[in-house]
Amino acid sequence: MARSATQVRLPPLPTVRDLVKLYRLRALRQLSQNFLMDDRLTDKIARAAGNIKNHYVVEVGPGPGGITRSILRQCPKKLIVVEKDPRFLPTLELLQEASKQQTEMQIDIADICSYQLQLGLQGAPKLDWYDAPPPIHLIGNLPFSVSTHLIIKWLQAISEKTSAWSFGRTSMTLTFQKEVGERMVASNVDLQRCRLSLMCQLWCHVNYKFTIPGKAFVPKPDVDVAVVTLQPLKHPLVDLPFKMVEKVIRNIFNMRQKYSIRGAERLFPKELRDTLAIRLYQLADIDPTTRPFQLSNEEFAQLCYAYKVICEDYPEVADYESRAPKIKPTDVEE
Ligand code: SAM
Repeated sequence: MARSATQVRLPPLPTVRDLVKLYRLRALRQLSQNFLMDDRLTDKIARAAGNIKNHYVVEVGPGPGGITRSILRQCPKKLIVVEKDPRFLPTLELLQEASKQQTEMQIDIADICSYQLQLGLQGAPKLDWYDAPPPIHLIGNLPFSVSTHLIIKWLQAISEKTSAWSFGRTSMTLTFQKEVGERMVASNVDLQRCRLSLMCQLWCHVNYKFTIPGKAFVPKPDVDVAVVTLQPLKHPLVDLPFKMVEKVIRNIFNMRQKYSIRGAERLFPKELRDTLAIRLYQLADIDPTTRPFQLSNEEFAQLCYAYKVICEDYPEVADYESRAPKIKPTDVEE
């Protein structure tokens, strides 16, 4: 296969497929392991991250190292791999040795859910949030349960400019179940629009790059896979505490088929509900009969700011959590 001008050739290595056989790396169901063996696809994922030459890259869940090889061929300055399953250590050490002339590769056997990215990235340049994005990228083909959980955790870190985002607007290139990727980018004309669409789009520019068919993985998962990039926005559409925004969006989407004011009412204690829900929509200047999925990102931001004003006038509202209403199957989105 033709390599791009910026790619380097790694010394001859056994193929990922051979290494998986050699080290008997049977995919573990409990870690949802599905491996990519086709280097055209792994190269495409590494390229989706943009220019990473001389940059810092964190790869989460490298497994036997297919995507890792593609990243290394792009010559990053430093590659930190975070892998939970220690069985992959020998194959990763092989790549560490093969690439040591051009890239410092650090192998951390750890769970990404508790991993401290700011420690792993120590030594990377710190840029101001309003500068160009820093030369730092997070790349990963993780199990779907982990990537969906992680993206929420990382969006919170973006909103607080902590973790990998204490270095500036660090970008991400991650895989998700195809339907989840479609929801992440869904706008207010798309039926897939849901809570996750809003949470992603209020803080990031989200791009659905391409789909990888399930059959490209070994073993084959039941679903196709989306490769999605997220670039934190210089000016987030809402600059309020993450938990407050999450609460407004969660309540409004709780009844996605109804007028959006129906879900918004649940932000308020029963005795204040009717008055404050109407006040919320008046302050935000939004038609209360709009359905949740028809509201634009900007309209959601207006509702969040209006909710903040009401919390200042009625301090008891801020801590109020309604018990979840019974959700009908037609209301379910995720
Ligand atoms: N990147 C490899 C590829 O594309 O062929 C492997 C992908 S496989 C879907 C997911 C990888 O993430 C596995 O190697 C698995 O052991 C690892 N993994 C799963 N949960 C993890 C976690 N919480 N922290 C770090 N790695 C994890």
